[in-house]
Amino acid sequence: MMKRTHKLKLLALLLSCFLLVGLLPTVAFAEGPVAWIGETGYETLEAAVNNAESGATITLGEGKYTLYEKGAVTAGKDLTFVGQGTDKTEWGIGATIPDSDKFGTEYNGDYSFDGAGTITFKNMTLQSGTVDYLGFIRAGKTVVENCVINGKTFYWGYTSATFTNTTFNAPEGDYAIWTYSSPTMTFDHCTFNVSGKAINVYTDYSAGKYDITVNYKDCIVNGNTPEGKKDKAVMNINDSNMGDYKYIINISGNNAVNGVTPDDQNEEYPKAQTDISCSRLFEFNTKYGAGNSGRTVVNIDNVTVWENGKMVNHINSDGHKDNAFTTTYGEWEKQGNGTTTRTVTKVCQYCGYTETTTETKTETKTETTHRNDPQVVSSPKTFDAGIALYAGMALLSLTGGAWVVNKKRNGK
Ligand SMILES: [Zn+2]
Repeated sequence: MMKRTHKLKLLALLLSCFLLVGLLPTVAFAEGPVAWIGETGYETLEAAVNNAESGATITLGEGKYTLYEKGAVTAGKDLTFVGQGTDKTEWGIGATIPDSDKFGTEYNGDYSFDGAGTITFKNMTLQSGTVDYLGFIRAGKTVVENCVINGKTFYWGYTSATFTNTTFNAPEGDYAIWTYSSPTMTFDHCTFNVSGKAINVYTDYSAGKYDITVNYKDCIVNGNTPEGKKDKAVMNINDSNMGDYKYIINISGNNAVNGVTPDDQNEEYPKAQTDISCSRLFEFNTKYGAGNSGRTVVNIDNVTVWENGKMVNHINSDGHKDNAFTTTYGEWEKQGNGTTTRTVTKVCQYCGYTETTTETKTETKTETTHRNDPQVVSSPKTFDAGIALYAGMALLSLTGGAWVVNKKRNGK
């Protein structure tokens, strides 16, 4: 509706311009408003922002926008910017061409929301670059809805950053985003189109200052790792510099991960078994040292699966979901009570997690000591991630806490 209104406005404006031109040939051609607050149009985005009260919604037209080095007054303001669609409205984050003298520093970042309150972007493409330390520096909260984010970004809201229904197109072979400046980051119904890396759960700026929470819900990852290259799990965690604080990773909902290898099937570099997450969604970056230093808690569907530097529950792992176990059976042995038993050992092919159960045979039937043992409630070998998740959840609810009884894990 807004678009049509704008077109009509533009048409009216153009007609009036032609009339003016006809009457007064010396009058300069006006380009017309590019941003609107309510019915009021502004010739520049910065004019709209400067006139905006906190809480204002600024509607953008089609075309390219930026506030980078425009001197617009945003401090203390909550502002919502609404574009005409990801294919029509583009917002440039930072300089069009980052200054190579400032690579490796924040000074290619975008200070246009320095001191701002909550900044919301809707229905547009946010264009970043491919170098480190880009993004919106020192905005309070950022909210991105129904957008596309191209390139790599570090800086989002200094209180929180929320991304909803947003598609991240990462630079080839590089991260889409670092968990750099936001104590709470939420990815809800997002899509990540990546090649080898997606989210770097790492910061130097805010390391050891507070817990950093990453909420990851109902997202799709499309991995397209180049031939011959190793990939990383969706979230690559390095918690070595978090001091007295932690990363808290909350994964929930229906998460599809396509084209990403579960940790540690990629064999990117040698990894101790105790550092292997057995997941496509997260892994620990121990390539440069103690990336798994015990300062991370990972919860999947409200089950804590990783804590104090080790796996605490294999139930939501990809090895479990994929039923990637190597099963070996001991010899049947007659017991004094008339039953015959054997030991069943299942080793996860991804992470080496081992569990043993005892299978019992009587004259008429064979059963295991654990009624709900996964050996009995077996999962199909292959199915898509969504079904796997629900199967995993169903299995979890079927098995309750009993499943973990009698498990053993190697390497402890
Ligand atoms: Zn495993």
